[in-house]
This record gives sequence, structure tokens and C-alpha cells, in this order.
Amino acid sequence: MQTSKQIPEVIRILKKHQKEFITPALTEIAERSNDPFKVLISCILSLRTKDATTAKASERLYKLADSPYDMIKLSTKRISMAIYPVGFYKTKSKRIKGICRLLIKRYGGKVPPDFDALLTFKGVGRKTANIVMVYGFHKHGIPVDTHVHRVSNRLGWVQTKTPEKTELALRVLVPKMYWMDLNNLLVQFGQNICRPINPKCSICPISKYCEYYKNVYLKKLIQR
Ligand code: SF4
Repeated sequence: MQTSKQIPEVIRILKKHQKEFITPALTEIAERSNDPFKVLISCILSLRTKDATTAKASERLYKLADSPYDMIKLSTKRISMAIYPVGFYKTKSKRIKGICRLLIKRYGGKVPPDFDALLTFKGVGRKTANIVMVYGFHKHGIPVDTHVHRVSNRLGWVQTKTPEKTELALRVLVPKMYWMDLNNLLVQFGQNICRPINPKCSICPISKYCEYYKNVYLKKLIQR
């Protein structure tokens, strides 16, 4: 079956299994807060950091400050202490203050619902800007993290070396009606089934659509 025809079916199956998986930290923060500012800041905290650590660090930080105006009143040291042990916590605390200053200076303290404007913030790349668009503003975007990149390549949807290239390829391949669901579904699936090491191919509900399954997993089984 052609890849473009498989996508609706794969998404349907993953949605069916969604309840079995733990909700990713960013989805949960977005659903609970409905606040683009928290989505943006938590996404920065989440880079190179485990979900559980991101969730706890976000909670500690928002108890101290949950708006750009309150955040700039905190010293970078105070922010660092609140978000520790997220990866690169010292750099992230400086970035957070820088972003908050810019939000106040240029946008009246509000996160702009504008992908290109978000990319001008230091520390905000395509993944973060897409996350803010999808989870903060319910607008179309395809956030590609390590899970979305890996799963899309294993399935054979794309053949790409970087998440940025995966995002651009997925934008062409995936019908827009599925963009909003794609990140959440593939992150959950990548955290629980299609893990970086030892993917659980033997119990995978979408194995019949997977190139890795056909070309790597089955071949290894036969060689045993
Ligand atoms: Fe991932 Fe294996 Fe499922 Fe393919 S069959 S999507 S590699 S878990």
C-alpha cells in the first residue's frame, strides 16, 4: 500500500490504542493550562529532558511565576534553582528571561500566534515554534522531536537524517487534517512501543505498515 494511503489507517489504529499510553508532559501541561506562555516555556524546559522531570520543573517554576511580567522579576539563579535538574538548566534560565523580556517589549506580554515571529526568539527552533502553534493555539503545525523523527523513518514514511528535514517531508506527505494529532500520537507511541532501543515490534499494532518490521525485524528473526 502507498504511504499516503497508509497514513489515515495508521493514525486510526494509534488513536485506538492511545488510552493505553501515558500522556506526554507537554500535552498534559497544554491541556491543563490552555496557556501558550506555559506551552512555550515548558517546551524549552523539555529539550533534552525526560518528561517526568519537565513536568515537575514546570510546576515548581509556575508556582513562582506564570507570566512574562512575573518571570522577569526572578533572578536567573532563582529560575535555575526552580527548574533544576532539567538539561542545560543554567542556559535555559537565561533563555527564559530573554524570551520574557522580548514578549513584553514586542508583544505586550503575550505569546504571538505567529510561527515566523516565534522563530526569532533566541532558543526557539522549529520544533518549539510548532509545539506552541499546535498545543498553545490549536493551529496547524507538525512538531518533530526525536520520537516523531524516528517513528516516521522506521515506518518508511520519510527517509531523512534530521528532525527538521522530517518535518518538511511530513508537511508534504501528511494531509493537513492529521497534523494536529501527529505529534501527540507518535510521541506516545515512540515512548511506549517504538522505543529508540529494542522497539516492541512483536506487539506493535501497526507492524504491517512498517518498513523496519519487514526489512529489519523479520530478517533478524529468520536469521536466529
Ligand atoms: Fe516501530 Fe517495530 Fe512498530 Fe515498526 S513494527 S513501528 S519499528 S515498533
